Amino acid sequence: MRKKIVAGNWKMNKTLDEAVALVSEVSNMIKDEVTSDVQVVLCTPSLYLTTLKPYLEGQTRIALGAQNCHEKASGAYTGEISAPMLKSIGISYVILGHSERRQYFGETNAQLAEKVNIALANGLTPIFCCGESLEQRQNEIHLDFVRTQLTEGLFHLSPEQFANIVIAYEPIWAIGTGLTATSDQAQEMHEILRKHIASHYGAEVADNTTILYGGSANEKNAAELFAQPDVDGGLIGGASLKSREFTTVVKANK
Ligand code: PEP
Repeated sequence: MRKKIVAGNWKMNKTLDEAVALVSEVSNMIKDEVTSDVQVVLCTPSLYLTTLKPYLEGQTRIALGAQNCHEKASGAYTGEISAPMLKSIGISYVILGHSERRQYFGETNAQLAEKVNIALANGLTPIFCCGESLEQRQNEIHLDFVRTQLTEGLFHLSPEQFANIVIAYEPIWAIGTGLTATSDQAQEMHEILRKHIASHYGAEVADNTTILYGGSANEKNAAELFAQPDVDGGLIGGASLKSREFTTVVKANK
């Protein structure tokens, strides 16, 4: 059975004190619901990961994640963070290929394939982002575009490696805009992605792949989105910055 996940992408937000307060609040609020099987991942700024870890001591349902890593293990890449570094501080998830990184830092599918490789080699679970622009959707090339992102970024992996991948479908037009995909639009794309995975890896691997939805998901729309048969949870940006709202989103993933 595939894992249900709700991941928060904090992006470049929060000072250290604010980050400690938010992690502590989320941890306390989630402790109350010990029976739930949802994995929560908090992708905070990498700078804070080591400091935040002790605040989640004993919390089996909340993991910390990074928002990116470099495709090389080490070297002269000023300002970058590597997968071995994340492993060395006990981090288990890393977001790769977020549309903001593709847009502002020029990340390509080929580069992301390398990032996926090094993340997996260091025991990290990649949360691999994909998603189309509004223009691509209006031109009806969105399905092919997103399928190609998966093919080029992930389909070089063996089935055993692929089993460690989490996918996040995030239509670019829905990220940070308040324009959420309808639950039908999300379900349509998630189903198509699952079929695409099945065509390469077989039905069992596809069935076990966690596919998250991201793009203006919040406490009001999360339950309907998560109720779709191929939506296994969410990657949450803005709504992950407030403990009560984020916790409500987590609890909506039943
Ligand atoms: C994101 O950036 O991953 C995201 C989903 O952002 P938001 O929820 O703010 O649209």
